[in-house]
This record gives sequence, structure tokens and C-alpha cells, in this order.
Amino acid sequence: KTFAQLGLSPAIVRALEAQGYTSPTPIQIEAIPAVIAGRDLLAAAQTGTGKTAGFTLPILELLSRIDFSRVPHKAKIRTLILTPTRELASQVEESVRVYGQHIDVKSTVIFGGVNINPQKERLNRRVDILVATPGRLLDHIGQKTIDLSGVDTLVLDEADRMLDMGFIRDIRRILPLLPKVRQNLLFSATFSAEIKTLAAGILNDPVYIEV
Ligand code: AMP
Repeated sequence: KTFAQLGLSPAIVRALEAQGYTSPTPIQIEAIPAVIAGRDLLAAAQTGTGKTAGFTLPILELLSRIDFSRVPHKAKIRTLILTPTRELASQVEESVRVYGQHIDVKSTVIFGGVNINPQKERLNRRVDILVATPGRLLDHIGQKTIDLSGVDTLVLDEADRMLDMGFIRDIRRILPLLPKVRQNLLFSATFSAEIKTLAAGILNDPVYIEV
């Protein structure tokens, strides 16, 4: 299989070729067409499997099909990606930038431990994909500096680590603030009872992927 055969546009495939990616990894082969088709996803995947590209590429593909010149008002955040750590948040957002360099998609990243004010300024501009850690996202929500009313895609990356780090309460506070009708992708290296409960509460008829 090639990236193009999975449904990705030439502008995205070009960015992958520039990165030296010659063929998709197994998780990408399963995840990319399913996400483009609009399905929810439950993926058991470790770091190193190419999981980040597995969800960022189809999300970029779907966003690239939107004609933003026809979006009448200030564009709202459409994709929310939650990660357990600032390092992972930064890496995911960097991947979004690299893979989306030839398409009209804007992203930003917010995490705790740094001054919130520059983040507020970035959230004032157009953001299509927001990568965030849960605590800092709640800070912005509390200060009303963020509009999540346009989110139609939610990704929980490394969900098991988020639970281990005690973010379950934060996630449970964030979820009701999102539009109910949306696409949900959950990635986790392990599947405890707690993850299964979380997944069951979020995912709609998900495609299961195990690599
Ligand atoms: P991840 O599992 O998302 O942390 O990705 C692990 C590493 O694999 C990252 O450095 C990616 O840049 C790289 N990678 C992801 N997909 C591919 C691919 N299809 N071909 C080559 N490298 C890839």
C-alpha cells in the first residue's frame, strides 16, 4: 500500500516523501482509511509504531478538504488532541506542522508550566488543530480564552498514561464541554478496566486496531 492509496492527497504525500517516509506502517494502513471514512477508533499502539502519523495524517486530510475562504466567521478549533505531557504535546504538534506544511491548516500547542499569556494570543488567531495537556486546557476554559464549540474531532493520545498521571478528572470535566456529535480516536499502549470504561463512554462503534 502507498500513502496515496490510503486516501491522502498529493500535498500531504509530498510532505511525507520529503520526510523520507516511503511506505505506511501497519497502524497507518489501518487507521488512515478508517479515520478518513469518519469512524471512531480504538487503537492499541506503542510509541514507535507510527501512531502519531496514524491519526494526524487523516485529520489533516479531512481538514484539507475544507475551503476556509468559505468559512464565514472566525474559524473555530475543529480538532482537539489531548496528550499526557508537554513533551508529547510538542512532538504531536510538530508532526502536524511538518505533515501539513503544504495545506491550509493552522495548529498550536498549549501546556502547563509556562506563561499562559502567549498561549492566549495564539488562541486568538485561527487554530484548526489544538494539541493540549488537560490541566492547561482547563485553565484556558476557566479563563474563557478558548472556544471549543466547533470541535468535531477528539483524540486522546496515550490515554493510559493520562489516567496513570491522574488526568481522568480533568478529562471528565473537558468532555461535556465539547459538541456531542464528533469523531473520537483513542490511543493507548495498555487496556486496563479503567481505560475500557473511558473508551466505552467516549467511542461510538469504534474500529479496533492492534499492532
Ligand atoms: P510514533 O510511533 O508516532 O512516535 O512515531 C515513531 C517515529 O516513526 C517518528 O520518528 C516518525 O517520524 C516515524 N514514522 C512514522 N511513520 C513513518 C513511516 N511511514 N515511515 C517512516 N518513518 C515513520
